[in-house]
Amino acid sequence: MPETKVKKEEDFHEWYNEIVELADLCDKRYPIKGMNVWKPHGWQIMQNIDSMIREEMFSTNHKEVYFPLLIPESFFKKEEEHIEGFSQEVFWVTHAGDNELEEKWLLRPTSETAMYPLFSLWIRSHSDLPLKIFQIVNTFRYETKQTRAFIRVREIHFFEAHTCHVDFEDAEKQIEEYKDTARRFFRKLCIPFIFNKRPDWDKFAGAYYTISIDTLMPSGRTLQLGSIHQYRDNFARPFNITYEDKDGTHKFCHQTTYGMSERILGAIVGIHGDNKGLILPPVISPIKVVIIPIIFKGREKEIIDRCREINEKLKKEGIESLVDEREDTPGSKFYDWELKGVPVRIEIGPKEIERGTVVIARRDTGERIEVREENLVDELNKTFNLMSETIYQRAKEFMESHIVRVKNIEEAKKYKGYIVELPWCGNKDCAIRMEEELDMKTLGEPLDRITVKDKCASCDKNGVTIVRLAKTY
Ligand code: ZN
Repeated sequence: MPETKVKKEEDFHEWYNEIVELADLCDKRYPIKGMNVWKPHGWQIMQNIDSMIREEMFSTNHKEVYFPLLIPESFFKKEEEHIEGFSQEVFWVTHAGDNELEEKWLLRPTSETAMYPLFSLWIRSHSDLPLKIFQIVNTFRYETKQTRAFIRVREIHFFEAHTCHVDFEDAEKQIEEYKDTARRFFRKLCIPFIFNKRPDWDKFAGAYYTISIDTLMPSGRTLQLGSIHQYRDNFARPFNITYEDKDGTHKFCHQTTYGMSERILGAIVGIHGDNKGLILPPVISPIKVVIIPIIFKGREKEIIDRCREINEKLKKEGIESLVDEREDTPGSKFYDWELKGVPVRIEIGPKEIERGTVVIARRDTGERIEVREENLVDELNKTFNLMSETIYQRAKEFMESHIVRVKNIEEAKKYKGYIVELPWCGNKDCAIRMEEELDMKTLGEPLDRITVKDKCASCDKNGVTIVRLAKTY
């Protein structure tokens, strides 16, 4: 079977760039850097991921909304830290035709400043709380670093959930719910991750604290897949989001957000794929089974008919499938569908017809087995589960074997391509020194406080926690 020109294990980034186009996910030839064209296969996978997000959101009582793309400057300028964090990344709309606008508008880089002035009108009393909404929209950020399909882009396919609560404790419960949501969601996508409490100097602009959802790519760099933020009342104050409590007093709401993006797809491509192409977790693959007729002269019709019959049967069972009837060799069809990451291939030729069987081949392991037609649906469902488990375990083993706890910076230097954990006194300067000496970025602390007996890896004080560092995207 043909393979990619560049091998994943030799040059991960070149392989990644090749695969996203070969597998028909996106077209990078659009002339604005960081704004790629989604092709049908890529877009459909993204839509399937979005459906899973919706399912999670609806099951936790969130409602879907849609806010405008444009935000007036006056809204954007209400929260100081937030402006500071985003001011270098926003695109401005200054003209309508030849006329300069009285007030500039910006393309949303995220939607706090679009939503919160409206929240202050929507929320009146404690009975309006909690307010839990989400939207799946595109956001825009002016990225100056090198762009990379799905990983670093300027037009971002974005999910954002926003909640308002009566107090800090209720908002904290929401954070716990989001952590559970993330655990369920990424498990279904077979993506292992770790939560990190980002250091204060790297939290979301305006947040009280930020929890990042980080995974490790095969390149040895971590990819932030999403983040959960506790805002406390940091936004409620400038945006005046208040409610009347049971005792008649007016109080500020406490807020949280949860955000993710198309980076999820980047992680799926990078983590699961191999030198034959994508490997899609069955749950998001637009086509779960492709049926390839193995044509023999004189028996064409019989073979095609059997393939179509099986196809109908699978569709009735809710398994998305198709028969590849193109005039091409089976080998080149195999190659095509492997590239696109279709989980299972069925082969049907004269031998299988005579025996009342079909051959099923798994995309992840390449394993082929012959199954009786009457057992096919059960076998397929079993295979999808096995496959999800296999690719998840493979990814998890890789990540876990690349997290290492060391005592000092010298030792940490031996672990290139790892997430290193070092004892830390909590001081910013110490972490920055570790970043510089290791040429890595601070991911943050684990969520559970860890007892540390060693001295800080950067100074003479006792360590109070551990800090994780890695090369990042
Ligand atoms: Zn220190």
